[in-house]
Amino acid sequence: MIDWREIDTVLLDMDGTLLDLHYDNFFWMQHLPRVYADKHGISEEASREHLHGRFSAGQGTLDWYSLDYWSEQLDMDIPALKRELRHMISVRPHVIEFLTRLHESHRDVVMVTNAHRKTLDIKMDHVDITQWFDRIVVSHDLAAPKEDQAFWHKLQALHPFDPARTLLIDDTERVLESARDYGIAHLLTLLQPDSKHQKRIDNRFPGIHHFDEIMPAPDDAADGNADPSRIGGSTP
Ligand SMILES: [Mg+2]
Repeated sequence: MIDWREIDTVLLDMDGTLLDLHYDNFFWMQHLPRVYADKHGISEEASREHLHGRFSAGQGTLDWYSLDYWSEQLDMDIPALKRELRHMISVRPHVIEFLTRLHESHRDVVMVTNAHRKTLDIKMDHVDITQWFDRIVVSHDLAAPKEDQAFWHKLQALHPFDPARTLLIDDTERVLESARDYGIAHLLTLLQPDSKHQKRIDNRFPGIHHFDEIMPAPDDAADGNADPSRIGGSTP
């Protein structure tokens, strides 16, 4: 599915790709409607209906991904509520081995996320996977979500990469479409971003269930040569 000799840059989404989307889905679809119902003295069903209506508008915009925006809109401390459920934040299977292998290779490994900086902090406080990345790019910092072409142009300006030798793994189809339009050649989606939901079957991009399906070999290097600095101990 992936010929690792063709890949120099690996761009990885966070929610639904590296982390189980169940935390996010449970928070927005179950936990928050419950708290909102209490706050307004309405039924959970009415609360859920009201919130789902509001959430369905503006998807894919920076506001929609912003915890500050929703804190203001709903007059609730969303980051604090998210922290209440932090025990539910979890890394998907095989992710640590996958990241370790990539980190040991010559490749540039970049997390590209639409998650708000506060969301990222809450998650990395609980499951810190930042050590395996060369850098982490938050779309809010580039003032454009991954769904917009502007994001890829700004990413390119900040840290140049060759789209023809770049792989993006992301569970959101609109993001994959945007990356494809920009020219990123290798695109993969996730078949089951939320471990408690059924596998998706209507994907328009090739998909994996888990990262063991595309695990790079331990000593894999794009040019077929081992890194000379790794031979002969740790002396400079
Ligand atoms: Mg995602």
